[in-house]
Amino acid sequence: MVHRLGKLAVESLFPRFCVSCGREGGLWCGGCSSVFAPSMLPQRCPFCAKKGSNRTCIECRPEVYLDGISAYVPYGNPVVRRAFSVWKYYGDRAIEKVIHGWMSAASVRMIPPIAPFYVCHVPLHEGKLRLRGFDQAAVIADWAGTFYGLPVEELLVRVRPTQSQARVARNKRGVGEFDGVFEVMSGVKVPEHVLLCDDVFTSGTTMDAAARALKEAGAKQVWGWVVARG
Ligand SMILES: [Zn+2]
Ligand SMILES: [Zn+2]
Repeated sequence: MVHRLGKLAVESLFPRFCVSCGREGGLWCGGCSSVFAPSMLPQRCPFCAKKGSNRTCIECRPEVYLDGISAYVPYGNPVVRRAFSVWKYYGDRAIEKVIHGWMSAASVRMIPPIAPFYVCHVPLHEGKLRLRGFDQAAVIADWAGTFYGLPVEELLVRVRPTQSQARVARNKRGVGEFDGVFEVMSGVKVPEHVLLCDDVFTSGTTMDAAARALKEAGAKQVWGWVVARG
């Protein structure tokens, strides 16, 4: 009872609004949850417009490290964008239950290729992690591990902070800007097959830099697994 009253008090001080219709009372209302059906992503090379498969195409392959990607929705989906801003910028972790529900339902059509994968996440820089208090990519990696019954490992460190990919226009990014952003944690043995998790995949620069660090340390296959793809 006390707990419930406490919860009510908190909610009246900080009212929550449905990330879809804006109705006050919670982050995801019953009406919206029953009709939510985001458009599916076409199967496409993660790095170019080539359609047909989520595997990196033969033309892109010599220039990148990531082998392919599974994604749930287009990053343009306004509901998902609002959910991300509630989660990452307002730090309201109550939204995790909502996003987890989406990913749980979507996981059957986001199955990575068959391989003995280890799940790991694209880590935030230490400074940002301290500021935010949690790493959303690590949360997503835990979900993926549970959905597919795969082991979850921390393999990478972000040794340099970088600007948010979603906020920097592609043409403003310098060549080689992401070189050496990630390193494999010391003392860690990198598995051959890694399922690399993050919240958003836009240009792919960040995830590919992480894939590169893993491959240079012995990974043979790195497959991305994200909520939204630009
Ligand atoms: Zn709603
Ligand atoms: Zn391609």
